[in-house]
Amino acid sequence: MEEEIKYPIRFDQCPSCGSVIRVMEREVNRAIILGNLPPKIAIPALITESHIIDKRQPLVSAKKFPVLVCFYDVCANCGTLYCREVIKREGLAQPKPKILRGGLIPPRGLLPDISGN
Ligand SMILES: [Zn+2]
Repeated sequence: MEEEIKYPIRFDQCPSCGSVIRVMEREVNRAIILGNLPPKIAIPALITESHIIDKRQPLVSAKKFPVLVCFYDVCANCGTLYCREVIKREGLAQPKPKILRGGLIPPRGLLPDISGN
């Protein structure tokens, strides 16, 4: 059995040049200081979400599966896009929304008058 990974995993330095200055983090912090964003908000350059699930099998509703979410930022020194943090959470299988036949529903007032008046 392989060693279990402890989450969250954080990477605080650029793996290419070792810089700790990141473009998105810096710009978001600046916007927070200027009052244009609420405090303690984090907006990564890129987020990926990987569902660890066999997609060939039919989804079983209410069955949970692991989801890995990776947050990326860009090094302000050399431009490397790198992973800042990986978190693991649980996802829940949800049935696909049903698409009703007929498509568009006309706005009120444009429906045919079937009241007989
Ligand atoms: Zn770098």
